[in-house]
Amino acid sequence: MTSQIVQDFKEGLGDGKLLIQRCNDCSHLALYPRYSCVACQSENLGWIPAEGGGVLHSFTVLRAGAPEGFEQDLPYALAVVQLDEGVQLLARLTPDSGCCCTAPRPPLSHFDQRLFQRLPD
Ligand SMILES: [Zn+2]
Repeated sequence: MTSQIVQDFKEGLGDGKLLIQRCNDCSHLALYPRYSCVACQSENLGWIPAEGGGVLHSFTVLRAGAPEGFEQDLPYALAVVQLDEGVQLLARLTPDSGCCCTAPRPPLSHFDQRLFQRLPD
């Protein structure tokens, strides 16, 4: 059985939105979703959509040792991104064209483009 939190988060992804959990009592933001606020332990939680901007802090190209189910995707790039909302996440980078191994090094600066991209099923 899927919890309501997971279901809400997945529905957001299905609608093309990356949802950030927001505590309705203290406004603390969290990503990934949790059952209670890590700041005040409230279970009165809601959602806000990520606007799509953020800062790329670091990235690496994974060439071996992919988790089970992702072996066929090698090589691919993983990045640590801090969204403008303040939460941080691990994200997969997809170059505009070509392979992530030959793409120019992305700038370590603010970006303002749509961060979330739905991959084909
Ligand atoms: Zn809270």
